[in-house]
Amino acid sequence: MMLHSSRIELSESALRRNLRFLRGVIGEGTRFVSVIKGNAYGHGIRTFVPLAERCGVRHFAVSSAAEALLAFESRTADSTIMIMGYVGNEALEWAVGNGVSFYVFDLGRLDAALRTARDLDRPARVHLELETGLNRTGLADTDLDAALDLVLSNPAHLRVEGVCTHFAGAESMANSFRIQAQQQRFAVLSDRIRGRGVSCGLRHTACSAAAITYPDAVMDMVRIGIAQYGFWPSTETRMQYMVRQMDAHGSARPADPLRRVMRWSSSIMSVKDVGPGDYVGYGTSFLTTRRQRVAAVPVGYFHGFARTMSNLGHVLIRGRRAPVAGTVNMNMTMVDVTDIPDARKGDEVVLIGNQRKAQITVSSFSDMTRFLNYEVLVRLPSEIPRIIVK
Ligand SMILES: *Cc1c(COP(=O)(O)O)cnc(C)c1O
Repeated sequence: MMLHSSRIELSESALRRNLRFLRGVIGEGTRFVSVIKGNAYGHGIRTFVPLAERCGVRHFAVSSAAEALLAFESRTADSTIMIMGYVGNEALEWAVGNGVSFYVFDLGRLDAALRTARDLDRPARVHLELETGLNRTGLADTDLDAALDLVLSNPAHLRVEGVCTHFAGAESMANSFRIQAQQQRFAVLSDRIRGRGVSCGLRHTACSAAAITYPDAVMDMVRIGIAQYGFWPSTETRMQYMVRQMDAHGSARPADPLRRVMRWSSSIMSVKDVGPGDYVGYGTSFLTTRRQRVAAVPVGYFHGFARTMSNLGHVLIRGRRAPVAGTVNMNMTMVDVTDIPDARKGDEVVLIGNQRKAQITVSSFSDMTRFLNYEVLVRLPSEIPRIIVK
């Protein structure tokens, strides 16, 4: 029974293709970690984790203990899970007890990890997040020696699985000097750690944009989010990649190596003729100028279809674009199907993705709404069913 008014299909072949491309970018010998925070960027952790495992992924990263638990329950193989963000004291025991690794960015957390590890008599697997210039979270230089002292004196309970940092916007060239400074700082600090006789384990700095734009940032491991789902981190990252391909392979226009994994669709719930000279929906923002046909789609801003798409966005019906007519409501949106005369109740409506030869991209969506790709995706509610397709 179809309880929900829309559904999100995840394409296995698209994911396989993106992963193949990304493995080519990072090369052999670098660990690929699939970032699935934000409910797998709206793709749904429960559905995405087993799908990714089937495509060969064995490492996942999340931003909270709650997401880690969801990933842990969803996995079908012995995949590793790493928490890159906040872990409260209550969650430490679960994380250490289940071999889930986590970032440590201050001495208090390292100390708490040590105490939990002693209680459980199991090692806490930590990633030391170094402050290199993002100035968000990260172990301060002044605390590094004390942290290493703790690690050195508790080898059975503190296992440094990795050393890492995060860049301050690798998707924009405007930040490139700052990122180069971060890379240098990371190298200096890594040397300092080794100099104290502590192994750095897996060194990792790169997100999608850094892996594609800064080959030096690809070290022992990468943390890839947006690109695996088939979206470029920014237009700049895409263009830089394309230009490099053109330089390397002559002047031909290279094909886009990424395939969107997600397709979001609903169906028409009713169609009616209106006007001329009538308003459609709430208020007076859409006035019919002739006899027009409008269709109701049972998706609104509650479902992640942004209200800023009012009178601006499009959906696909029978392979053609239908503009949003009037305001996007909480649970419903009207679209103008005057130019799609065969549109009928029950017809499929595509909100993101392809239909026949037409497509609606998330970036067209995000240009329109001034949201980043990332934000449009993570606003898709977890209640919408996710379905795997070939
Ligand atoms: C979200 C996140 C990533 C992945 O970023 P993408 O741009 O989606 O590849 C990597 N590292 C950290 C610390 C993150 O928070």
